[in-house]
Amino acid sequence: MAVSDAASQTGGCQCGAIRYRFTAPFVEVSLCHCRMCQKATGGLFGAFAGGFRADFELTRGTLTVFRSSDSVERGFCSACGTPLTFARVGGKRISVTMGSLDHPEAFPPTEQAGWTGHLAFVGALAELPNIAPIEDVAPDLARRIRASNHQHPDHDTAVWPPTE
Ligand SMILES: [Zn+2]
Ligand SMILES: [Zn+2]
Repeated sequence: MAVSDAASQTGGCQCGAIRYRFTAPFVEVSLCHCRMCQKATGGLFGAFAGGFRADFELTRGTLTVFRSSDSVERGFCSACGTPLTFARVGGKRISVTMGSLDHPEAFPPTEQAGWTGHLAFVGALAELPNIAPIEDVAPDLARRIRASNHQHPDHDTAVWPPTE
């Protein structure tokens, strides 16, 4: 059962050394609050969109894989450290980290796991006060960051890094 309609979903790591594509709709978009997903993503919880390995391909680069247990492989970019994939060893499915998708906004999660391990403040995140954006408080710094941005753009590229 598909939870997305897009025919093709692309994404990759921050430095652009690894790019991937799903050629069929995701069958699962979920969060996981377990301690292993917190640690593996360096975030407050894992957020994954997944489908079948047969519909997944790397279009650039090679994943480095860490087995977080005998049952689970987590793939990442060894050049920039971006966490990219989650898969059961020998399983038919593979998931990608939602933040590595080119368009995570298109795939709202439909379920969550591991709630017993969730960080207590996660439920109140939307209530936190907002600090002013860097463009307002430090426009020069914001300009320098924009001018020296090494992050791969949110679409496939023919050549990366760009050659002038
Ligand atoms: Zn990378
Ligand atoms: Zn987990």
